[in-house]
Amino acid sequence: MTDDVIRSLTISQRALGTRSVVLIHHTNCGLESITEEFRHDLEMEVGQRPNWAVEAFRDVDQDVRQSMQRVRTSPFLLYTDDVRGFVFDVKTGMLREIDPA
Ligand SMILES: [Zn+2]
Repeated sequence: MTDDVIRSLTISQRALGTRSVVLIHHTNCGLESITEEFRHDLEMEVGQRPNWAVEAFRDVDQDVRQSMQRVRTSPFLLYTDDVRGFVFDVKTGMLREIDPA
């Protein structure tokens, strides 16, 4: 999960008054098939290292849990009690809720 997610949620809560957070990741994500090596390869190719992290992951459930944790512990957010995470299965079209660890 990138910083701009926290940025969007912070603006949503503080400027628009939202209180609930729902995170949805998906199966078959391109981020599952790459590693942080991606940045290195990119730097070799274009001569410049990106200042963003790739945020690749192997286990989508675990990535959702980690994202929920980041939302809950963010100092910028006003409301962190109602945070739910789901995985959208691109094959079945079903949403599966992830238990927070
Ligand atoms: Zn994806």
